[in-house]
Amino acid sequence: MKLYMQVLIALGLGLKRNWHIFAGLVLGVFAGIWLHSEPNPTILTALTFIGQLFIRMIQMVVIPLVISAIVIGITSVSDSKQIGKLGSKMIIYYSILTLIAVVIGAVLALLFKPGLGAAAFINSDIATSIQAQVAATIEHQRADLLNIILGFIPKNPLASIAAGDMVPILVYAVIFSVALAKIGDINRPFVGFFESVFAATMKITDWIMCFAAPGVFALTAVAVSAFGVEIFTTISKYLGVLALGFGIQLFVVFPIFLSVFSKVPWLMLYAAIAEAMMVAFGTASSSATLPLTIACCEKRGISHKVTSFVIPLGATLNMDGTALLQVVAVIFLTQAYGVVLTPFMIVQIALLAIVASSTCAGIPGAGIITIALVLNGLGLSPEQMVAGFAFLFTIERITDMMRTLVNVTSDAVVAAAIADNENEINYDLLNNPEEYNEII
Ligand code: ASP
Repeated sequence: MKLYMQVLIALGLGLKRNWHIFAGLVLGVFAGIWLHSEPNPTILTALTFIGQLFIRMIQMVVIPLVISAIVIGITSVSDSKQIGKLGSKMIIYYSILTLIAVVIGAVLALLFKPGLGAAAFINSDIATSIQAQVAATIEHQRADLLNIILGFIPKNPLASIAAGDMVPILVYAVIFSVALAKIGDINRPFVGFFESVFAATMKITDWIMCFAAPGVFALTAVAVSAFGVEIFTTISKYLGVLALGFGIQLFVVFPIFLSVFSKVPWLMLYAAIAEAMMVAFGTASSSATLPLTIACCEKRGISHKVTSFVIPLGATLNMDGTALLQVVAVIFLTQAYGVVLTPFMIVQIALLAIVASSTCAGIPGAGIITIALVLNGLGLSPEQMVAGFAFLFTIERITDMMRTLVNVTSDAVVAAAIADNENEINYDLLNNPEEYNEII
């Protein structure tokens, strides 16, 4: 199939699945411009209510999603003893790429300061209270580092869950999952339980995403009504920083990674997985793209043994594009609210983004949900920063499409590198585009 046809199909797929959200966005802009020129408090209150409802619903699914994703991820890796070697290599490769992604995100966000322009639009009382809150959290952390470390170990995991303390929850979930993996088959009922929790939570997330169109409409309208059209100059800097970060990851980091850890030619690999990349962009879902990612890799010479193990786990655990976005978004928010970041806080944000991204499901919008976890490390929640989040939501869909493309590409990059290391790749097939069959 000709390239332009593939692009059209991918764009068509993207629009078909997301048209209502795009419509919410566009209508939100118009409604916001209208409300800016003719303020109507009743409509504004109603729209603010709808926007907050959407954000609260998103927060509602974070804890069950994170816990069940960790249990399923860890138990499935440790289960496969016969491919333990593949597993450890996969984790190392995925970690390297995600670590580089968060460093790129932090450097670009600190260099270009995309959030400064938004500061003018944030209510100064709210900004002051956010600054005080972050300062108190950090002061508390600094004053009593040993106690903070103690606090990571939950005395009562259920109390941590009830209080929404993410770090102790994560620590317990990881320890518990490793233990589950070690006890063998007796873990089936529990793993089965978490598989059900995960599936049900994904379903709830699906339902919440049905509400994405009015949610995005309301958030966009409120944001634009308060800021006028200047919001687009502010947000274009944020979008530019993200696009630059994703571009560096795709065209500098992945090619260097492939040449250091394998002899896979990056351009041939990109040609091989072009359809998967475009569908990832169109659907904003690593999970929805998963079958196609596997099909592309296998048809182009990467063995089934490697793809069937590395790519499905990558589609759930490896989210370097999402991690990059989370770092940029959180630094954007701190800049918008005038919170001064110390080097310690930046490292904390980067590390939490690695955890938060790998616990996020490969579905549209998941990355913006688990940002709650990163903010939690600063003692904040998305709900308090609703005005700042309004900025992020204005272009959430397009950033989701971009980060998903990076997520999916990096799954294939790691699969190709491992296949090369293990002699599980057929270079005659990979290096010969004439042999490529049509995928879509
Ligand atoms: N949509 C992304 C993916 O499926 C996850 C995210 O929301 O960041 O990979």
